[in-house]
Amino acid sequence: MTKVRVRFAPSPTGPLHMGGVRTALYNYLFAKKQGGDFLLRIEDTDQNRYVPGAEDYIMESLRWCGIHWDEGPETGGPFGPYRQSERKDLYRQYAMQLIESGKAYYAFDTPEELEAMRQRIEAEKSGNPQYDSRSRLSMKNSLTLSEEEVAQKIARGENYVIRIKNPEDEEIVLEDLIRGTVKVHSWQLDDKVLFKSDGMPTYHLANVVDDYLMKITHVIRGEEWLPSAPLHVLLYRSLGWEAQMPRFAHLPLLLKPDGNGKLSKRDGDRLGFPVFPLQWKDPKSGETSSGYREAGYFPEAFVNLLALLGWNPGTEQEIFSLDELVEAFSLDRVGKSGSKFDPEKAKWFNHQYLLQKPLQDLGRELKEIAQAKGIDAREEQLTSIAGLMRERVNFTTELFGQAGFFFSAPKEYDEAFAKKRWKEDTPAILLDLTSVLENLQAFTAEAIHKAIHTFMEENGIGAGKLMPGLRLALVGSGMGPDLSEIMDILGKQESLQRIRRAAETLKA
Ligand code: GLU
Repeated sequence: MTKVRVRFAPSPTGPLHMGGVRTALYNYLFAKKQGGDFLLRIEDTDQNRYVPGAEDYIMESLRWCGIHWDEGPETGGPFGPYRQSERKDLYRQYAMQLIESGKAYYAFDTPEELEAMRQRIEAEKSGNPQYDSRSRLSMKNSLTLSEEEVAQKIARGENYVIRIKNPEDEEIVLEDLIRGTVKVHSWQLDDKVLFKSDGMPTYHLANVVDDYLMKITHVIRGEEWLPSAPLHVLLYRSLGWEAQMPRFAHLPLLLKPDGNGKLSKRDGDRLGFPVFPLQWKDPKSGETSSGYREAGYFPEAFVNLLALLGWNPGTEQEIFSLDELVEAFSLDRVGKSGSKFDPEKAKWFNHQYLLQKPLQDLGRELKEIAQAKGIDAREEQLTSIAGLMRERVNFTTELFGQAGFFFSAPKEYDEAFAKKRWKEDTPAILLDLTSVLENLQAFTAEAIHKAIHTFMEENGIGAGKLMPGLRLALVGSGMGPDLSEIMDILGKQESLQRIRRAAETLKA
């Protein structure tokens, strides 16, 4: 059996959309599941759309996600180079082969002539306003000009393009692994440009030639390429490579949260979630777009949520490591219809990973965040805070928002809460409690818990009379986790100080 070889073939025209990462991921999962190769190929033949930094961004994004390629730029491999701009000289011979076999032709039409043709067809309503098997006969090309004229034009250095000569009356059929049988009649196809006189191939030619030369067995890509697939089939046929043609699988779109249309950068801005894996600063406009990494997502969570946007395991399982995804993935569980992106669900995934993370890792991460914020805290303390608070948040970064009271004593007290729960006798009760706490040998959550309950029982004080005031003193509000746990982390001295200060300053 031939070894499975797939590729992710982005064009470096800007940051990689999360839909692009999903395409890379599905390729990766498919390859690894079959023990095959996953290639990264940079399709940078369109110099006008080249954006500096985009290629690095793409590679960094994949690395962040843990999607490693077996062959690609920098990594190298037996079928390199893997950047199309470095393969430039290779494409011309295939364009010439197509010309010689009559499967393609030279065309010399100016932009004005092309526009006039479209307008004429529209006015006559005589077909599709495009360069195709009908309209080409009235245009300036090697089908209508004599051989000498063509040779002269080329010799004079006139601009030309090489167009595919689509069949006139033929149904092109392809079996898509996701969409099933796809049929297109050749009169719907335009004679796409394959090669330009500046020596550059267009996407279509370069893409097909490279898939062939790199021995790609499956082309897994976004649905937006489905309209190009019949052309690619024709190219394989015209180049005599039909037996080596890869299988196609076109992935459904990622849709806006309300299901109306393709998920776009603007939806992210409007609804407050990233659509890019990493933050991106546009080199021209200087505009910054947010990224999942910077928003505090774990790469594992991002990968997990992407995997389930279009594919389903056929079970209730939702949490998958990358290895588990490899194990479970198959193209026949990729749906045909678009998948709605749910930003709340995305957060839920991160929450699940936050709950699973070893506390040590979270402590370390928090230490870094703390340092960046200029907060002085011990890693050990941060680890405990993570353990105590992670149930309540979706992101490690959020812990600071909710755990601020650990790092500084309340400067003021929640007024509404105080008004309701801070009574005349609260200060006295709290001060009595401090003498009990003072005497605790081991100031652990367990010991504190016990001491508080004994104190309440012995003095006939209900929890409702003690706890809200104690919470207000320690936290400054009515929120937060278990009070014994909080005191354990704060330590005896700090806890007692906070209680005394509230008892002295807060009036009922
Ligand atoms: N360069 C194309 C893109 O940017 C590749 C499409 C394909 O996978 O064939 O998406």
